[in-house]
Amino acid sequence: MYSVVSTAIVRGIESLEVSVEADVSDGMPTFDMVGFLGSEVKEARERVRTALRNLGYALPAKRITVNLSPADIRKSGSSFDLAIAIAILTALGVVKQENVGKMFVAGEVTLNGDLLAVEGALPMAVGAKRSGKSACILPYQNAQEASLAGGIKIYGMKNLKQVIRLLNGEKDVAEYKQNRGKKGAGKQKYGVDFSEIRGQRFLKRACEVAVSGRHNILMIGPPGAGKTMAAKRLPTILPPLTEKERLEISKIYSVSGMLREREALIEERPFRSPHHTITPQGLLGGGKYPKPGEISFAHNGVLFLDELTEFDKSTLEVLRQPLEEKRIEIVRFLGTYSYPADILLAAAMNPCACGYYPDRDRCACSDSVIRHYLNKVSQPLLDRMDICVEAPRLNYAELTGKQKEGETSAEIRKRVVRVQKIQRERFRGTDICYNSRIPSFAVSRYCSLGEKQEAYMRQIYRKLSLTARSYHKILKVARTIADMEESREILLSHLMEAVCYRSVDKKIWEH
Ligand SMILES: [Zn+2]
Repeated sequence: MYSVVSTAIVRGIESLEVSVEADVSDGMPTFDMVGFLGSEVKEARERVRTALRNLGYALPAKRITVNLSPADIRKSGSSFDLAIAIAILTALGVVKQENVGKMFVAGEVTLNGDLLAVEGALPMAVGAKRSGKSACILPYQNAQEASLAGGIKIYGMKNLKQVIRLLNGEKDVAEYKQNRGKKGAGKQKYGVDFSEIRGQRFLKRACEVAVSGRHNILMIGPPGAGKTMAAKRLPTILPPLTEKERLEISKIYSVSGMLREREALIEERPFRSPHHTITPQGLLGGGKYPKPGEISFAHNGVLFLDELTEFDKSTLEVLRQPLEEKRIEIVRFLGTYSYPADILLAAAMNPCACGYYPDRDRCACSDSVIRHYLNKVSQPLLDRMDICVEAPRLNYAELTGKQKEGETSAEIRKRVVRVQKIQRERFRGTDICYNSRIPSFAVSRYCSLGEKQEAYMRQIYRKLSLTARSYHKILKVARTIADMEESREILLSHLMEAVCYRSVDKKIWEH
């Protein structure tokens, strides 16, 4: 008898459908598995055979062939076990094919028939729904995250026996009752707020400009000025996640096994702050069976590099390409894995080894020490920062909190939402979504200047000996500042503020 069961393999954050066919016929007693299989999948044969025997379904002395298709995708991992077991049981007539046809099945099976969690249950459930399946049978540890897909029945099962009972229509096996909807969209809980930042008017303003146009931001200042504090609050002024973004982020966490305990899709914009000892692989993702890295965990949110000078130069260099492409491609023998990595990059550093330059009362670092310190930052990464802002030491009134409370994140976010709407309208019909993403060939179209402005920029270009890249960056940041004031035209004041954000690093690096 012949049977077919539907399962999937997760590649990147997408699920690719895989069919498991089983055929049982008379002939030499054998058990063969084919279909471009990785070694763990080949081992499934022994796991499934033993599990079935232990449950009282010893394989008959017949010719058994299992085929996993499509043949051109290499199958790896242990999530095929359950589908293989069900395919064989169906071919043996233990389970009826008509009960299996509309089901999606995935899970690892232990030798005594228990089911173990798989990674990527959310993308699997989303894929199963898309291909018209009516239900997913998964290990119970995966039921919660799979239910977040919504619109498809989920059965979270403890063991193979329970799955057989379910497929044979026994009533004691209940559908997993999902919690989706308990928390509505847009209900973020960050636990921190912009109003908690003391003083630092310019830093806060720069943060708002950065978030409004998705410009990368570097904060330079002494310890205790509030750089880290401000960075942590950047996600709170980003607009709420859209449904598509929530699902995308949740899928990244699902394939990393980080979504299992969650009651809802991820609602908050991620904030990731990897330690400076992180490896390039930890940052970008990778491994024999690729997994996403910090840059993907920060997708649609903020990647914060604190103490930028402590990071290994070579580690930072690897960020260049994904920062341009907004995604990571990892090529392996098994195929290409693609993870989204569209981030707002924020970084912070001290201006010198002691942290107090240019406050010469406290900083005794010599020029060569300072130069050596600053040279630790990778220049190409520095080139990718759109906004550099100084976060000076707090004054006494700011430090003691004798000043009125600042604006809340909600108030600032309202403005950011408005400015991003202006950008969406401007770029309608293109694949640009933010001012920071205007390609260099289109800068003159979207950031055109009047005569006075043109003359000012000509002067600045010479004075700061700008590169073409940094010249464009100034115009794009000025475009955002103009949008914040709902000005169609880029005015001189907008350009001046944008130039300020460019001259901080010039001043510090070329003091
Ligand atoms: Zn110093």
